[in-house]
Amino acid sequence: MVLGKQGAGKGTQCVRLSHHYVVPHVSTGDMLRAAVKQGTALGLKAKDQMDRGELLGDDLIMEMVAERLGESDVRARGFVLDGCPRTVAQAERLADTLAPVDLDLVIDIEIHTGQVLRRLAARRVCVDCGANYSLSAPPLINWTCDVCGGEVVQRKDDTEEAISRRLELYERQTAPLIEWYRARHQLESVPGTGSPDAVTRRMVKVIEAKRRKGHGFV
Ligand code: ADP
Repeated sequence: MVLGKQGAGKGTQCVRLSHHYVVPHVSTGDMLRAAVKQGTALGLKAKDQMDRGELLGDDLIMEMVAERLGESDVRARGFVLDGCPRTVAQAERLADTLAPVDLDLVIDIEIHTGQVLRRLAARRVCVDCGANYSLSAPPLINWTCDVCGGEVVQRKDDTEEAISRRLELYERQTAPLIEWYRARHQLESVPGTGSPDAVTRRMVKVIEAKRRKGHGFV
């Protein structure tokens, strides 16, 4: 599971890790945005709160996550979890969902708020596959996704107001999870500064170190 404030590079790094280890990337943000786009009952319920940067209810999120973690690809290969848990209540529910196994490792990507504000203002995403771009690293052709050909746009919740609300909720609700997982000896931290490649290398290094210790990893 990967922790980190908005703009820390969580989504980008989770996609890279899921390719590197050939495991599904389970992202609550991507799942919810897909539901909004498809206009499902879940999407209709979630849209306004997401656009404002509010957190959705723990029950709704944990039901969605439990269902996804029960699917055959995840059961066969494991997963990289992105965007959940975001509250201590969610972390407790996740531990129950996963029991008798547990998360192998939680990686916190550390970054200063000043840096994420700049990144978020420049961030652009593919509406179809969620691939991340920025004003300084756009897709090759006309804001068309390099990966899937989808349209690349600014996220509705990457407005100044929604960003500051999300960061406030991160500090209040999500940051306490760092100590929560540290106390359970599941946490490693990596600096989120430097190039995306540099951050990926740091993450793979801590994963490999943990695997060598043989904590039930396959
Ligand atoms: P970010 O980390 O940039 O805020 P995400 O893409 O992870 O964005 O999530 C987008 C939105 O989806 C959140 O602002 C929130 O409204 C909702 N969401 C995603 N995951 C959760 C969660 N675990 N608990 C509550 N709400 C969530």
